[in-house]
Amino acid sequence: MIAAPAVVGLGGNVGDVVAAFRRALQSLDQTDGVRVISVSSLLRTAPVGGPEQDDFFNAAVLLAVELEPAELLAVLQALEVAAERVRAERWGPRTLDLDLLWWADQSLETTALTLPHPGLTERRFALQPLVEVAPSALTGDGRRYADILSTLPSEGVEVIGGPSLVYDPTSTDNGGSESCRT
Ligand code: ATP
Ligand code: CA
Ligand code: CA
Repeated sequence: MIAAPAVVGLGGNVGDVVAAFRRALQSLDQTDGVRVISVSSLLRTAPVGGPEQDDFFNAAVLLAVELEPAELLAVLQALEVAAERVRAERWGPRTLDLDLLWWADQSLETTALTLPHPGLTERRFALQPLVEVAPSALTGDGRRYADILSTLPSEGVEVIGGPSLVYDPTSTDNGGSESCRT
């Protein structure tokens, strides 16, 4: 199977979110058929929808995937469970949310999986890190996500650190003692 480029969005606003991102990215990198290619900057973002709650951290990761999309979604959901995510209310506070945002040349709609992710083109907190890791990504009808991003309002999203703050795929030391807490 040829590896397909895919982008996963990470989010969370409960506990040590950066540590949760790092653990999830390390686990993804160690999953058979999945390789971490690059990670976006770390964003701090105002919550959209749902109850009043703390700001979120968001990032995105470009993967090379030799699995089917549904198989990758199952991996992501297992990582959310491993991060002790509790599903209380939609768009509510969570330790870790892993959304499959985009998959090269794939659009599909099943009960479990919609690709590209339905919120992608309205959400700067998802689209901005996606464009950072996949600057030439295109929609199914050939529009550049980078162009769509430039039409979105810029408020509510702040870059608080570079990619290496989140996870360095070339490093053997990701996290541990000096994990970032903000
Ligand atoms: P949103 O989907 O609007 O970002 P959310 O992330 O809070 O909201 P969840 O409770 O995490 O929503 O997921 C609800 C369901 O969405 C999951 O059970 C999953 O099957 C489905 N889903 C559909 N498409 C996708 C996708 N591209 N990535 C992740 N989950 C998806
Ligand atoms: Ca989500
Ligand atoms: Ca989700």
